[in-house]
Amino acid sequence: MDSVDVEPMESRDFDSAVDGALKRSPLIDSFGRAISYLRVSVTDRCDFRCVYCMSEHMAFLPKADLLTLEELDRLCSAFVARGVRKLRLTGGEPLVRRGIVTLFSSLSRHLATGRLEELTLTTNGSQLSKYAAELKAHGVRRINVSLDTLDADKFRAITRWGELKDVLAGIDAAQAQGLAVKINAVALKGVNEDEIPALLEWAHGRGMDLTLIEVMPLGEIGDGARLDQYLPLSMVRARLSERYTLEDLDYRTGGPARYVRVGETGGRLGFITPLTHNFCESCNRVRVTCTGTLYMCLGQTDAADLRKPLRASESDDLLHAAIDEAIGRKPKGHDFVIDRRHRRPALARHMNVTGG
Ligand code: SAM
Repeated sequence: MDSVDVEPMESRDFDSAVDGALKRSPLIDSFGRAISYLRVSVTDRCDFRCVYCMSEHMAFLPKADLLTLEELDRLCSAFVARGVRKLRLTGGEPLVRRGIVTLFSSLSRHLATGRLEELTLTTNGSQLSKYAAELKAHGVRRINVSLDTLDADKFRAITRWGELKDVLAGIDAAQAQGLAVKINAVALKGVNEDEIPALLEWAHGRGMDLTLIEVMPLGEIGDGARLDQYLPLSMVRARLSERYTLEDLDYRTGGPARYVRVGETGGRLGFITPLTHNFCESCNRVRVTCTGTLYMCLGQTDAADLRKPLRASESDDLLHAAIDEAIGRKPKGHDFVIDRRHRRPALARHMNVTGG
């Protein structure tokens, strides 16, 4: 397994910095959208090589380029001080970063003060058996687990390196701790499209929501063109509605999914449809990579370097100035396209850079 060799963080009192920064204004972009949700990719490394996400032979960042866990804490805390209420750690695979539990532990102080509403993660589940209890102890209540199939052979083919049984054991461990689990599945043409009803009934039968995601054109992935993987969720929904009663819900988790209630199972089914229907007008999110690069939109290349101002001074003034400047440039929306005239990815960067 890949793991990043980073020293566990030293204890440091960031609360005074957060208190000071609380006098600063909340983050509102030039379209009037309040930024209340930060996703942080804590490592670009992963123990899987999902075919739609990465090529098999990826060049990962040198460890020296990564923010330390202490710097990640400082960065997240600066956003919390500016009104971010929901923090999701992602990757790469967040649970392969060495010492990651200390970051959850230190960030949980913002839950205790009520400044942060939710501390959560998106994981492939491979390490959950090991970490579920600690995550629960540090205030994590809901997690997203990515799982595209319940067929062990297909699972190996999609993830290249993964074992279904490890992920299922991880889900068991998370549920045994009382964590609410949401399953995220990427809808893949000719791969899992026939399995979606089975996934839905399995997830709902275990009390878990299921969210389906359209393949997004991020990064060169080597074998297999995106066009061959792309399955519009409008089509999936139409097929599901021949079999199930789907009732639109107002339910929101702060993310981009739109939910329906499945009458026959009683469970919730979400759709994340950046291609067939974009959701930019209500976007409340920004993303930071493990090197401290802030992406104001998942689907655009514009970014701001926060590592430099973070490292330039002990005070957070430069950091806040850089954040303000970047949020002022948050674009109105993205323009992903997958069609025959655009066979190259819309963006060169892979999903493991910014996280899902
Ligand atoms: N390793 C963690 C995991 O597996 O959930 C977190 C990072 S992973 C990049 C986050 C999510 O992005 C996963 O649900 C994954 O399936 C999804 N993903 C990766 N590449 C994608 C793509 N090109 N289009 C749509 N979803 C993608």
